[in-house]
Amino acid sequence: MDDRVWMREALRAARRALALGEIPVGAVVVRGGEKLAWGWNLRETRRDPLAHAEMLALRRAARKVGDWRLEGADLYVTVEPCPMCAGALLQARIRRLIYGTPNPRAGSAGSRVNLVDYPGMDHQILVRSGVLETRCRDLVQRFFRDRRSLQDGDMERWQSPVECTRLEIEQGG
Ligand SMILES: [Zn+2]
Repeated sequence: MDDRVWMREALRAARRALALGEIPVGAVVVRGGEKLAWGWNLRETRRDPLAHAEMLALRRAARKVGDWRLEGADLYVTVEPCPMCAGALLQARIRRLIYGTPNPRAGSAGSRVNLVDYPGMDHQILVRSGVLETRCRDLVQRFFRDRRSLQDGDMERWQSPVECTRLEIEQGG
């Protein structure tokens, strides 16, 4: 099935996070054309550093199928996973990772580091990026703009990894 169909579902999840005042990130676990589970960022609500969208979606999916191995399952997420979530995807033996927009600050599927497709690791995950990228990025950018919680420079970091690197070089760090 078209990856955009499931990315739209991940965007629906992200909007649930947004409604709670959370950074809008949403994830969906799909296997055999069926949605196993979804999750959205609840870090503030639960005061839990582990409550990222991907972690919650993986946990619910594992509960549903009664197995921590989610072999053959794909995870769709609106923003590129952080190192913790990339590690969890490996643990769950996810087959494919499909994400919307890169995360130049902490992205662990190629932007900062690539943990999900690292030679020599027990498991490698196929990665596709840029699915509904504009919509996924706009959601996050609008959140930060509305909250005015970040400086303009931080906003620009969401533009692209290349842009991020350029900014850091210019700013000397
Ligand atoms: Zn994460």
